Amino acid sequence: MSRRISIFDTTLRDGEQVPGAKLNKKQKIEIAQQLARLGVDVIEAGFPSSSPEELQAIKAVSEQVRGPVIAGLARAVQQDIDAAWEAVKGADRPRIHVFLGSSDIHLQKKLRKDRESALSMAADAVRYAKAFCEDVEYSTEDASRTDFEYLCRVVDTAIHAGATVINIPDTVGYAIPDEFGDLIRRLKEHVPALDRVVLSVHCHNDLGLAVANSISAVKNGAQQVECTINGVGERAGNASLEEIVMILKTRPSVYQAHTEIQTQEIYRTSRMVSRLMNIPVQPNKAVVGGNAFAHSSGVHQDGILKDRCTYEIMKPEDVGIKQHKIVLTARSGRAALKHKLSELGYDLDQERFERVHSRFLNVADRKKEIGSEDLTAIVEIELTKVAEAFSFSQLQIMSGNTMVPMACVTLKKEGEIITDASTGNGPVNAVFNCIDRLVGYQGILKDFDLKAVTMGKDALGEAMVRVEIEGSVYSGVGTSPDVIEASARAYLNAFNRFLANSQ
Ligand SMILES: [Zn+2]
Repeated sequence: MSRRISIFDTTLRDGEQVPGAKLNKKQKIEIAQQLARLGVDVIEAGFPSSSPEELQAIKAVSEQVRGPVIAGLARAVQQDIDAAWEAVKGADRPRIHVFLGSSDIHLQKKLRKDRESALSMAADAVRYAKAFCEDVEYSTEDASRTDFEYLCRVVDTAIHAGATVINIPDTVGYAIPDEFGDLIRRLKEHVPALDRVVLSVHCHNDLGLAVANSISAVKNGAQQVECTINGVGERAGNASLEEIVMILKTRPSVYQAHTEIQTQEIYRTSRMVSRLMNIPVQPNKAVVGGNAFAHSSGVHQDGILKDRCTYEIMKPEDVGIKQHKIVLTARSGRAALKHKLSELGYDLDQERFERVHSRFLNVADRKKEIGSEDLTAIVEIELTKVAEAFSFSQLQIMSGNTMVPMACVTLKKEGEIITDASTGNGPVNAVFNCIDRLVGYQGILKDFDLKAVTMGKDALGEAMVRVEIEGSVYSGVGTSPDVIEASARAYLNAFNRFLANSQ
């Protein structure tokens, strides 16, 4: 008998806590709609009390995204629970997710409460939430470092106060698989009331064990796993959704458990989250990395050509990766472009398609053949440019080892053309200084990464930056066959994100 495991996606809450990954309302809805297509059971859409904008964004997700349960996170205080209910009450199936520290470290150092008063605080919070919402999840924060007897009491108390889901988080990523699985099994043995509710886990990846711990918990009776797309999240991240889903799918006899995830939507979701949060996926990432299905050694290639089962345990198509050799040129028509885009999983409206098309022509003029990676890079950079206050127009550079590098940049702002020039200690620095002058803010470059997206001398360069603007960090990405132009586009992209966020 295969048990059904509920997938609780927290990309929009835990994942969004990554510096520079903040999403605006439109982006949140776009990801939530894709998560619904992916078939997740629960979407944790955010932390409503963190800001009024956050509350409005979660409210919009609750009202517009149908299918999954929509959860809002709250500390165990009335004001947070009020905000959470306000944010999720428009959902078909709302959930309030209350959390409170349970370990002595958290109780003493963070909350300054003794165990008994924390216990009654938990019960009060669950009862208060329950008055609004039938579905209440209770998380015992830092459970893996909590005294076992006390943890049992907290769980039992929360269930008797009305919790419908109990979540056991390894908040600090301290647990190891055998021990964490054991904790779940012992909890089920010691707290009979757990039979009436859903038992959930939420693991962090500080020791690289988030997925292993989650899977061990499933084996020992957990029914819900909290995870994120690409494993994004606080610090080293959360358990990766795609890995958990594919482990259960690939090894059904070991776990006798399955999920309702539409696995062919995994790759598209992974790309969308990476693009909108500006967090690249490492090439060797399991399931969704660029090399996850690439076979490079001769022996492996030979085996794969004879029979894919020799070295492949999952089919790329199962996670939505289509391995078509795509080559377009400047003469490929709009229909061909549209067709290839849909094969890559992009379903663009007319306005976005036009933007991609004109960028495609621009790149194809300079780079003869456009492959699937080029096309993906073009689309992703175009789609990142939502609400562009400034758009990139022209760039001139003077540089050399015996002269002061100088850049002249032209941008468009609401149809108006603005140009300025600046020097710098290198050509990229000169460009960044010039953009600072044009947009009227001083950016502090925190991180700069340049890579070739495609092979060959005419490769497309992709620049990624993290820029501190007015005290917050914004990411930006830009591509071009010219690396300085790619850098300029990335830097400007960070400013556009800042301006879009501060509207
Ligand atoms: Zn977390």
